[in-house]
Amino acid sequence: MKIKLVKNILEANDRIAEENRKIFYKNQIFVINMMSAPGAGKTTLLEKTIFDLKDKIKIGVIEGDIATTRDAEKIEVTGVPVVQITTDGACHLDANMIRGVLDDLPLSEIDLLIIENVGNLVCPAEFKVGEDAKVMLLSATEGDDKPLKYPLMFSESSLLLINKIDLLPYTDFNIAKVRKDSLSINPGLDIIEVSAKTGEGMERWYGWLEERLSI
Ligand code: MG
Ligand code: ZN
Repeated sequence: MKIKLVKNILEANDRIAEENRKIFYKNQIFVINMMSAPGAGKTTLLEKTIFDLKDKIKIGVIEGDIATTRDAEKIEVTGVPVVQITTDGACHLDANMIRGVLDDLPLSEIDLLIIENVGNLVCPAEFKVGEDAKVMLLSATEGDDKPLKYPLMFSESSLLLINKIDLLPYTDFNIAKVRKDSLSINPGLDIIEVSAKTGEGMERWYGWLEERLSI
């Protein structure tokens, strides 16, 4: 039966995710699984974050994309360790893919590992990879009905970053509605409004990270 098969796949994934967690714990790495729709600005936010924090926090990155190594090349310029996972069609990262690249990262030298998942609002939320927290990006150029349309992303995340707030004057995106709908799905969700482009709000995102890294 199909439902049983899906359940088995997720259970097998969770076991590997747990092994990944042990490796991260042993190396004292805080791990973020970053998710969003394509084009929400994950890579740009990451570049800006690394630029601002890399003297303070030892950051490593895993880039997930269906095709191309473009995003990893952008991160490589910042000088932090990065590996690319090209999923060759798969629309999410899973725990086994992450385990497959851990040997390519200098784990003992990393305090914060950011995993940029494949741009997709559905299954990335279903597959644990061994992360400490899921962080979701929703940009002001997307529909403000997404919390209600893709509730799992919002219920699984610890933090929602509302990105591209510099573009709010040009869109119909209703932040109050997004906040209300998101919190109705996940009352414990932290929500921070940012623009990775202008830098607005980024200090609060850094504060959120530093709190978790206990800096
Ligand atoms: Mg990207
Ligand atoms: Zn998928």
